[in-house]
Amino acid sequence: MVDRKARIIDGLAVAHSLRTDIRRRVADLQSSRGIMPGLAVVLVGDDPASAVYVRNKIRACAEAGIRSFEYRRPASIDTATLVALIEDLNANPEIHGVLVQLPLPKHIEMRKVLESISVEKDVDGFHLYNVGGLVVGNTIFSPCTPYGVTKLLEHENIPVAGQNIVIVGASNIVGKPMALMLMQRDATVAVCHAKTRDLAQFTILADILIVAAGKPNLILPQMVKTGAVVVDVGINRLPDGRITGDVDFEGVAQKASFITPVPGGVGPMTVTMLLENTVAAAERVA
Ligand code: NAD
Repeated sequence: MVDRKARIIDGLAVAHSLRTDIRRRVADLQSSRGIMPGLAVVLVGDDPASAVYVRNKIRACAEAGIRSFEYRRPASIDTATLVALIEDLNANPEIHGVLVQLPLPKHIEMRKVLESISVEKDVDGFHLYNVGGLVVGNTIFSPCTPYGVTKLLEHENIPVAGQNIVIVGASNIVGKPMALMLMQRDATVAVCHAKTRDLAQFTILADILIVAAGKPNLILPQMVKTGAVVVDVGINRLPDGRITGDVDFEGVAQKASFITPVPGGVGPMTVTMLLENTVAAAERVA
């Protein structure tokens, strides 16, 4: 094995520096235009993980000087009532971003709900207009997690154009938008998923390997090219309560040139990009 220790990409530090800039923009909006950016967060049901995510987002808003408005609704709510709430939020001038925490209960028509969010307030970037914008390179709001990954790569001065990038995971919220954003930046992108035959045959070719599958230890050192950049989006809770990613961090760090840790890599960037999109939404109004 090559005796090389990867540089660890410090997502917390990058997020901190971006948030400092966001706070400055919030202060500017207030002092020059009298606008206080506002984010509405809609939480349906009582899934404990969703409640934690919502709490983190609300705390991050407060720290950035962004107002947040929380709307908790019971799991028994129907699609029409939820859409009516979102239409009210669309019409509310104090609210610049509307976020519906996913997943929604099974009986709710998720697409109908996401499509009801005004495109100008779609700070999660899940509306079909914004998804389509990713295809043609003209998105108003990029989805937060892949957007955060692009910011990490930029921050580390890792070039993307012409690179072989392999993405493991093809979900609508991470893998697919990630692929579109990187194609837009002239990368050569392959997307793998649970039905990909012989995953290693793809991952070994990657100059940049981005993993978002939700499977601990899916990526082992022998699947990674020496000198590759490895970005681990996965968040898995082990039986002993520890949080881990999808990559064998210790093993792969011996081979990669850069690697993101879990926690402390992509995670802090996701909420940061939500703040970024919310401030950008308020700036658009201004
Ligand atoms: P998902 O379950 O919607 O999608 C998982 C994808 O991985 C699917 O395309 C599936 O086919 C693929 N996959 C599953 N097993 C695989 C295997 N063995 N080999 C290859 N591909 C496989 O999940 P998601 O919402 O995209 O999230 C993925 C992971 O990223 C989860 O661990 C999630 O917690 C994490 N996540 C982290 C952040 C963050 O802020 N860091 C944000 C969103 C999701």
